[in-house]
Parts: sequence; C-alpha cells; structure tokens
Amino acid sequence: MNFHIVTFGCQMNKHDSERMAGLLARNGHTWTDDMDEADLVVFNTCTVRQHAEDRLIGNVAGLKRLKAVRPEMIIAVGGCVAQKEKERLLEKLPHVDVVFGTHNYVNLPQLVERAQVSTKPVCEVLDALDLPPNGAPSLREEKHHAWVPIVVGCNNFCTYCVVPHVRGREVSRPVEDLKNEVEKLVADGVVEVTLLGQNVNSYGRDLYGKPQFARLMSEINEVNGLERIRFTTSHPKDLSEETIQALAELEKVCEHLHLPVQAGSTRVLAGMNRRYAKEDYLRIVEKVYATLPEIALTTDIMVGFPDETEEDFKETLDVVERARFDYAFTFIYSPREGTPAAKMGDLVPHEVKADRFERLLKVQNRISLEKNAALVGRVIQAFVEGPSKRGNGTLTARTRTNKVINFSGGKELIHGMVNILIEEARTHFLMGRVVR
Ligand code: SAH
Ligand code: SF4
Repeated sequence: MNFHIVTFGCQMNKHDSERMAGLLARNGHTWTDDMDEADLVVFNTCTVRQHAEDRLIGNVAGLKRLKAVRPEMIIAVGGCVAQKEKERLLEKLPHVDVVFGTHNYVNLPQLVERAQVSTKPVCEVLDALDLPPNGAPSLREEKHHAWVPIVVGCNNFCTYCVVPHVRGREVSRPVEDLKNEVEKLVADGVVEVTLLGQNVNSYGRDLYGKPQFARLMSEINEVNGLERIRFTTSHPKDLSEETIQALAELEKVCEHLHLPVQAGSTRVLAGMNRRYAKEDYLRIVEKVYATLPEIALTTDIMVGFPDETEEDFKETLDVVERARFDYAFTFIYSPREGTPAAKMGDLVPHEVKADRFERLLKVQNRISLEKNAALVGRVIQAFVEGPSKRGNGTLTARTRTNKVINFSGGKELIHGMVNILIEEARTHFLMGRVVR
C-alpha cells in the first residue's frame, strides 16, 4: 500500500510518526507525499489543547468524500486523541477503520491488515506499555537530525494537562540502549540528536542505579561523529546543578534550554501544581545565565488559567521582562476533560484571554527582536540544514542556540558547518553572509 501520515502536536508525536512510517516501510508499504493517492492514511493526533482536537476532527471528516470514491482506502487514527476517546472516536467518525492508542503503534501494520479483512473497525488502545519502548525502525524526515525519546510518559500531573492521562507514567530507556541507538543513527548520517521527554530532568529515576540525565548526556557526548546534542523539555522543579554544568562543559551539548514557566503568579503556579514559585523560577534563570551568558532560553506560557486575574497576568509579563526569553511558545488555556483544572470551569472570558495573549505576544516579540539584534555584527557557527522555507533561493542554517539564519550560498554548503556574519535581525530569525 501507499501510505501517508498526518502528524499533529509535539516532537514526541513527530518522532512516533517516524517510527510508524519505519514500521510500515519494513512491512513492505511505501510512503507517499500525496494524501489523495494513499491507500492508507494515518492521523497521529494531539489532544493537549482543544484546538488540535478540532483540527483533527475536521481533517478526518474531510476524507469522507475521498473514501466514498475509494472505499478500499484505510483510515487509521492513533496517538493522544485515540488514547483518550477510544471507541467513542468511532461514533464521531464512523468512516475510520483503525483506532490505536499511544502505546500501540508498534502493532500498526498488523492492525491495518486486520482492518483490510474486517467488516468492522479495529480498535486497540492499551492503558500502559508492558515493555519499555524499544528502537522500532524509523523513517526520518531529515537526514542530519533525529529525535530520540529517552523517557516517555509523565508523572507530574499539572492540573491543566492531559498528557499524563494519555501517555501514562514515566518509563525511561536504559543508557546503553540510548547510546547504541545514537551510534546507529550517526552511522546513518545523523549529526544532531534531540533527546526527548516531557521532563528530561526526571530521566532515570525508574531505572536500576538511577542514572541521572547529566550522566546520560555525558555518555552520548562520547559518540564519535555526533556533533550536536539538544534536549527538551526541562521542568524547572527538577533542573539540577549537574544538568546546568553539563550544558556548560560537554562540548556537543548545545547552549539552548527550553524551560517552560507557564505563568508568573505564584498563586496560579500553585493552582497548576507546577511546584515552584515565581522567585524559584527567576533564581534558576539567573543561575543559568550566570553559568552560560550566551545561552538561548525558551519557554512555554499559558494565559487564561481558570482563576487568573489581571494582577496574576501582570506577574507573567514581569517574568517575561526579567527572564528575557529568546522565544516563547504562547497558549490560550483550554479545559481538558478529566483534568482537575477543568473542574474549576473556564472562568476567564474569551475576550480577556485573547487580550492577554496579544499583550504577552507583543512584549515577547519585542524581547526576541532585542536579543536577536544584539547578535548583529557577530560571527556565529551554524549548521546548514537546506533551502530556506522562504523559497527565495536562500539557505537556512541553525546555530547551537537553535536560532535560524537565512543566507545566500551554494548547495554544496548543505549539511555542513559554516561561519556566518550576522547582518540583520528579525523577531524570529537572523540574516547574514558566510565568512571564512
Ligand atoms: N512537558 C512539557 C509540556 C508539554 S505540553 C512541560 O511540562 O513543560 C506543551 C505545552 O502545552 C505546555 O507547556 C503548556 O504550555 C501547553 N498546554 C498544556 N495543557 C494545556 C491546556 N489545557 N491549555 C492550553 N495550553 C496547554
Ligand atoms: Fe503536562 Fe506538566 Fe507533564 Fe508537562 S510536566 S506533560 S505540562 S503534566
């Protein structure tokens, strides 16, 4: 069969999709970029916010017409929405053939085969993994970069968040397995890995000997041929001294820290069950900048948590001013069924949320631009990823701090390191020219 996968959501989902593609390819199926000609369309779904779920329903409903013309086409829905809704999803979307949970993608090829001979939809949604996630084959989108999940699931239960409910409890993969996987990836042309976890800082707590995240990084730092190590996400309550030191000392670990703050008000943070106060967060930021003055700091911020007041929101703006993030992923709170916050109701009116969101964006965009502007005149090493998305014939390179630089250059530079003199700064990227 020709198959196509549509992915919603986070890096973990993007990675799972690459594994699904790898498994399907190993079973003799062929990837196609064109959904209209696919015999199998897989949706890997996200439920972290209502918006993502609405988009999924729209997308799958849109395939109804295609399926009416080609009834043999198989539609599979997996990932977090499937995990949460289970059979209920089939009531909403009766033309779906396969529903599979977040712990079941390994069986996707078999589920598809069953659906081909079955008159009824096939549904497999387990509550948890019985085995730690292994290294299923993956069909990667990019040759030079790979996602490497080091710990799946989450134990934190932030009150707004559905992730622990759909991804289950934390399961770490042993250091040796991960090192082997990275070695294989490097042999396959990878020069940069991103270590993934909802909270990488709690890596290893469930493993024999409790290896810490910093130790894992130092092991992976030893892999010959690997050039860059990135990681995401760090929960502020668990960011250890050792991890900050590893960032400073291990030469392959890139100077970028994604440290979601979520909100500035200590009262709201308590309501979110984040387990740090505003001052704790600012203290960590101070320590990070003191150790690594050139680091890029990014964050996630939410506005409109059920009882967030104008005063609370101003605390968020205050943190943004003081932490000086390079970039922030900003979200409007949406209640998720089954979470404690959802029981509080959705108390902040939509217009108020929208207004706070705009104000937050304005402040953050100004700071992003200021931080980028400070780099003008500097020469920065960057890895050339390929043609830029702007489609104007320029190339795109990425700095260790995860900033994008657009510049003119020949195709022979792709997948190599260059030094670039930064000539111009924009809010979300830089521009410059290659220098010797
Ligand atoms: N594990 C990561 C976050 C994973 S979810 C962490 O702890 O930081 C990614 C982001 O989505 C979160 O950081 C949060 O900002 C946002 N998010 C999660 N639940 C949400 C909800 N119910 N409404 C709006 N945004 C939400
Ligand atoms: Fe969700 Fe909190 Fe876990 Fe992140 S740490 S996935 S926000 S529960």
